[in-house]
Amino acid sequence: MTIKIVLAGPRGKMGTEAIEMILKEPKFALVACIDRKNAGEALQKNNLSIPIFDDADTCFDSVEADVFIDLTNPEAGFHHTKTALNHKIRAVVGTSGFSTEQINELSEMAETHHTGCIIAPNFAIGAILMMQFSKMAAKFFPDVEIIEKHHDQKMDAPSGTGVKTAQLIQENRESKKQGHPNEIETVSGSRGGDMDGIRIHSVRLPGLVAHQEVIFGGAGQTLSIKHDSLNRLSFMDGIHYSVLQVMKLDQLIYGLENLIEL
Ligand code: NAP
Repeated sequence: MTIKIVLAGPRGKMGTEAIEMILKEPKFALVACIDRKNAGEALQKNNLSIPIFDDADTCFDSVEADVFIDLTNPEAGFHHTKTALNHKIRAVVGTSGFSTEQINELSEMAETHHTGCIIAPNFAIGAILMMQFSKMAAKFFPDVEIIEKHHDQKMDAPSGTGVKTAQLIQENRESKKQGHPNEIETVSGSRGGDMDGIRIHSVRLPGLVAHQEVIFGGAGQTLSIKHDSLNRLSFMDGIHYSVLQVMKLDQLIYGLENLIEL
């Protein structure tokens, strides 16, 4: 069976890489794209000519699709994913920056429509392991700070991976405010974001792709757990795997770690 895919964000850095991945896989067929530009035109690629829509509703009304992939931005991605689920089209969402409320809303929709949906803040297997190792380490090292570094075109901060890491660490760590109880910021924001006392520092620079270091401190020792995505190919195996897996789901799964056996 060929899995018919609609992709949102085909001009983007992730979208461009995802198109290559889809075209290389004989089990996948790209049938349409959603893009706010070039609507009404066709995407010409490798002898393939597929329609481009600027409106998700029109797209899902017009083409027959099995899976929708979103690689856009949080606002557009949330709207697209809701529209896909309303059309009972399974969704694989790489777009990061959704709030907990938005994820809960999508989860309820997926359940109501018995339609699979995978949302993963990070599709790189190395990053999944980095998050899981951090969760393990938090049992022994409750003192922790997170430094995440991304390219300077990234819209959301902290990154979805940073937030997810903090959530996993919270499962193994009592609530605790990191740093001195009376510490003072002489420059606002210097201590980073605060998630249940865990500090998250976001670096945004050209040249970076996606990098994260989780630093644990203990008596006379530190432990650093670090992952680097050197280019966007690092995310494609996870998206490929999720497209295959979402076909078997009738609910929402958040995080690739809940999909693979670790
Ligand atoms: P990007 O290069 O900025 O691409 C985003 C694309 O979405 C752009 O082409 C943009 O068009 C398009 N877009 C914006 N609004 C739209 C709308 N309303 N309808 C259709 N298309 C729209 O960003 P990227 O680096 O590819 O990243 C895309 C998303 O993936 C981000 O949320 C990023 O954080 C996330 N990401 C996830 C992972 C993961 O593993 N889950 C890894 C890397 C990145 P314009 O150029 O006109 O704005």
